[in-house]
Amino acid sequence: MSVNGTFEALRGRLAEITDLQRTGGLLFWDQRTKMPPAGAEARAETLATIGRIAHEKFVDAELGRLLDELRPYEEDLEPETFEASLIRVARRDYEKATRVPPELTADIRRAGAMGLKAWQKARAEKDFSQLRPALERNLELKHRYVECFPPGEETYDTLLDDYEQGMKTAEVRAVFDQLKRELLPLVREAGVPDPAPPIELPRAGQERFARAVLEQLGFDDESWRLDETAHPFMSTAGHMDIRLTTRWESGMNWLFGAVHEFGHGVYEHDIDPSLARTPLGTGVSLGLHESQSRTWENLVGRSRAFWRFFYPKLQKAFPEEFAALGEDDFYASVNRLEPSLIRVDADEVTYNFHIIARFELEQELIDGRLEVADMPAAFNERLEEYLGITPPNDALGVLQDMHWAAGSMGYFPTYSLGNVMSVQIFERAQAELPELDAQFEQGEFSQLRAWFRDNLYVHGRKFTPQETLEKASGARLDAGPYVRYLKSKYAG
Ligand code: ZN
Repeated sequence: MSVNGTFEALRGRLAEITDLQRTGGLLFWDQRTKMPPAGAEARAETLATIGRIAHEKFVDAELGRLLDELRPYEEDLEPETFEASLIRVARRDYEKATRVPPELTADIRRAGAMGLKAWQKARAEKDFSQLRPALERNLELKHRYVECFPPGEETYDTLLDDYEQGMKTAEVRAVFDQLKRELLPLVREAGVPDPAPPIELPRAGQERFARAVLEQLGFDDESWRLDETAHPFMSTAGHMDIRLTTRWESGMNWLFGAVHEFGHGVYEHDIDPSLARTPLGTGVSLGLHESQSRTWENLVGRSRAFWRFFYPKLQKAFPEEFAALGEDDFYASVNRLEPSLIRVDADEVTYNFHIIARFELEQELIDGRLEVADMPAAFNERLEEYLGITPPNDALGVLQDMHWAAGSMGYFPTYSLGNVMSVQIFERAQAELPELDAQFEQGEFSQLRAWFRDNLYVHGRKFTPQETLEKASGARLDAGPYVRYLKSKYAG
């Protein structure tokens, strides 16, 4: 076969695998937004089959043979070209995937599905003991998984690499230690106030207003959807088919949640279309993905300039609730530092301590310093230490997130890494686009979006997360800008 023929054969196989993964994603979206509850059992089987076929196609020895054959061709190419990037990234994914025996991969998937089922019941009944055996099983499988890879400096490095390729535990720890040092005094100062009762807004009005805001940011009915779900997420069935979800609820999180998912969606939507149906055609890492959802949610969506444009519209949409409330008071109410129990509802500052607590517990678990049985108490102690509050029961404590039950360890730190990266990148955009605030006040967001597209989104997975961050922000991972941003917003 000619080199071109070999490359096209590789590309064709990868396109099919991507199609299968998209199909799985679409079934997952349907499960969380449309499927009647009794469909769960059949759906679990369908998803398992699709996932298994995609995995088998990917670890197929023929794919490895094509990658080997393309090695001399790749070495002659410029590393930034589409061809070189595709071969490099596919090889890295292939080498990682083929280290894990297929039986172990199947065991891990099955245990995750069982864990999720146990979690739902344990959480509903506020009873950690019902989840304990599933977590012990997940942990045992994690150890077997880690053993498939050459030992890193720390066991946790191998777990982290699945979500943030190339990132080391020690780097994350250094960043988180800085957040602790600089931000814990702010949290202590805030104390634990009596939370104000959340505002209740009519559901239909929420949806109308959320859609109006998203349209102003760049959502359109040609390639986007917005649906309701219990645990909001973004899913993409193709770069022109972006599905956002939110939850209609009290307070204002229905809107911030929708804008958060918009940030994930716009990243996927604005990736170079020529990368579609390849492993390059998606966001580069969870951390960088989260940097974008947090940018649109917090750096844009909670900014003064944003609300100068949208607050009069919010007052008009909900006159009973907001006519008497001034813009200053509203702005303060959506930017309040207030230690609370639930990670997903936390403010910009305390959010990081929910993450740091989980990051530390995960390392203790994988290093054998913490037993699964002792997790509820350890979780509560850590929350008390950082935020000054103790969960009244396990549903509001160790059982609040599904990640561990589903078998994800090493995922949590990417949320706070996203926060840190978001400000690094946004400050670069602000420096190059000095009119941003004035534009936001006019409801104009297209220049910012175009900047993100050209400097970040367009690359997809062509470069490593670290290289992608450097291209967008001009620097390596650095907590400095994020700490300064939070201090100037929340101190005193
Ligand atoms: Zn997110």
